[in-house]
Amino acid sequence: MGNQELEQLRQRVDEINLQLLELINERAKIVQEIGRAKLPQGVNKYDPVRERKMLNTIIERNDGPFENSTIEHIFKEIFKASLELQEDDHRKALLVSRKKKPEDTVIEINGELVGAGQPTFVFGPCAVESYEQVAEVAQSIKNKGLKLIRGGAFKPRTSPYDFQGLGLDGLKILKQIADEFQLAVVTEIVNPAHIEMALDYVDVIQIGARNMQNFELLKAAGSVKKPVLLKRGLSATLQEFMYAAEYIMSRGNEQIILCERGIRTYERATRNTLDITAVPILKQETHLPVFVDVTHSTGRRDLLLPAAKAALAIGADGVMAEVHPDPAVALSDSAQQMDLKQFDEFYNEILKAVPVKA
Ligand code: PEP
Ligand code: MN
Repeated sequence: MGNQELEQLRQRVDEINLQLLELINERAKIVQEIGRAKLPQGVNKYDPVRERKMLNTIIERNDGPFENSTIEHIFKEIFKASLELQEDDHRKALLVSRKKKPEDTVIEINGELVGAGQPTFVFGPCAVESYEQVAEVAQSIKNKGLKLIRGGAFKPRTSPYDFQGLGLDGLKILKQIADEFQLAVVTEIVNPAHIEMALDYVDVIQIGARNMQNFELLKAAGSVKKPVLLKRGLSATLQEFMYAAEYIMSRGNEQIILCERGIRTYERATRNTLDITAVPILKQETHLPVFVDVTHSTGRRDLLLPAAKAALAIGADGVMAEVHPDPAVALSDSAQQMDLKQFDEFYNEILKAVPVKA
């Protein structure tokens, strides 16, 4: 074969490459269109029966030199890539995604603009135990000029024999505290049927880690006009976390704060493993404010401060931590809550690291 002939064959291969390129991209566009058409019908995009038919049709026509198995493999890859493209489209279209809305979502809570640049702090006991217990913490929060308080009235405990919270009585205590100290209340609701009732008592509905995929609860929280603080599930991927937020937003409630609270790993030095890079990832992927709960992620008092500094340094919009007047006798999470003196020290140190405007 002469040099000229070889060159011609190479040119032909180059041409075919470009034709293939054009064809697979054209195919992808059509598949995308099909995906968009199927979206409103909620039809599953992956259709194995249809794929089998397509492969059979192709193989029937295969005269080689490629083996049927090779052809099947090549086409299977093309099918897969198109399907992934549809999924990408879907993700891009998420209501929580930054692609959908480039500007940061800012949520006003008790005069504080969450997600507007200044860090928000949410302190308070793990659980509401008594009026006096919450009031002591509320006073300390108020003294610092802060605007929010947390405290669980419904506690989703791992063991059914552990303190389950005061329930409605706890909400009433929180409401009284909110009124007396002009603080906004962040509290967990665990039952979809309680969402409406909670509106009279709470300023921010918290959805806890154990309920991140309680879809009925997410839908109920999405149907009201109250900010929602959604915690990441114990072993939820960030994608699952974002879809959980999407459940809320797709029902019409756009006021959502995402809260990284540590995930379960093999590491035992901390209660959970704080996934610190979740913060910038969630900030990039979504337009929602992102908080870090340093208490449940570390489970260690000595790590609250460095974890909080890290959270703010990496771009978190807020920090949550638990404070109890007497942690030793707390009915839940006694090992990890700060007492009031530790709380003062913690907050002073945080202010040094991140100057907060008065
Ligand atoms: C809480 O914040 O009270 C709590 C129970 O946290 P998590 O749902 O993250 O475990
Ligand atoms: Mn707790």
